[in-house]
Amino acid sequence: MLENKIAIVTGGTRGIGLAIVRKFLDNGAKVILFGSREESVNKAVDLLRNENDTYEVTGYYPNLCKAEEVDEIFKDVVDKYGHIDILINNAGVTATTPIEEYTVDEFDKTMDINIKATFVCSKEVVKYMKEEGKGVIINTSSMVSLYGQPRGVAYPTSKYAVNGLTKSLARELGKYNIRVNAIAPGVTNTDMVANLPKEYIEPLLKTIPLGRVGEPEELANAYLFLASDLASYITGAVLSVDGAAMN
Ligand code: NAD
Repeated sequence: MLENKIAIVTGGTRGIGLAIVRKFLDNGAKVILFGSREESVNKAVDLLRNENDTYEVTGYYPNLCKAEEVDEIFKDVVDKYGHIDILINNAGVTATTPIEEYTVDEFDKTMDINIKATFVCSKEVVKYMKEEGKGVIINTSSMVSLYGQPRGVAYPTSKYAVNGLTKSLARELGKYNIRVNAIAPGVTNTDMVANLPKEYIEPLLKTIPLGRVGEPEELANAYLFLASDLASYITGAVLSVDGAAMN
């Protein structure tokens, strides 16, 4: 479904991002994954190359909030492959801190990676996509972007902003044949959820109509659909992939 497409996936070292990278490679794309540290990036790239020696995958660890660092890599990718077809803004962090204990630094950290990095990577990729006359950007929102969550206020705030950025960019970039959508995952079986307190997660699980958490591959299937030409008339959408969960 993505034969010869060039895709960038942020937060591609584990969890949902790693599943997206694998799914895209399995569908013929060449993938450049981004992570936060050299060690985790090398580990993910080695893992994938060991799984399948035909996978064309490389990794980098730029500061996603620094436009020059991101653009330097995008330029290298375009020099090597000629174009960038798909950008997946997936890197993210969460916290469940109550409001009075929230420090401004912690708030900034969440907003930086969840929304500023999404803005920076999108901003830097647009010129390459415009030159090609097409492109796909998929941002990563959350089910909490639809109705908030009872604590950890920066996280839902950042994900509401992701939805706003997605819908606005879709309207701004449609005339260049660049589609911009978001996926809003529900509770998904990754380190992010494993690290949350049990008393927060257990009541949440009971409310999921499908009766279980989602698997990263089930999320990756939705990214594949939106990245592919099957979704050629879909832009500005926030697609819930959450088993109809509500927190
Ligand atoms: P994860 O913690 O397993 O992986 C997060 C990824 O983001 C890692 O690859 C990590 O390297 C990267 N990352 C984190 N901080 C970074 C930084 N400062 N700079 C660069 N990269 C950084 O998380 P996940 O569960 O796979 O989540 C992926 C996305 O899905 C996130 O945006 C998250 O908010 C969203 N999401 C997840 C769930 C869930 O239940 N797991 C639910 C809703 C939304």
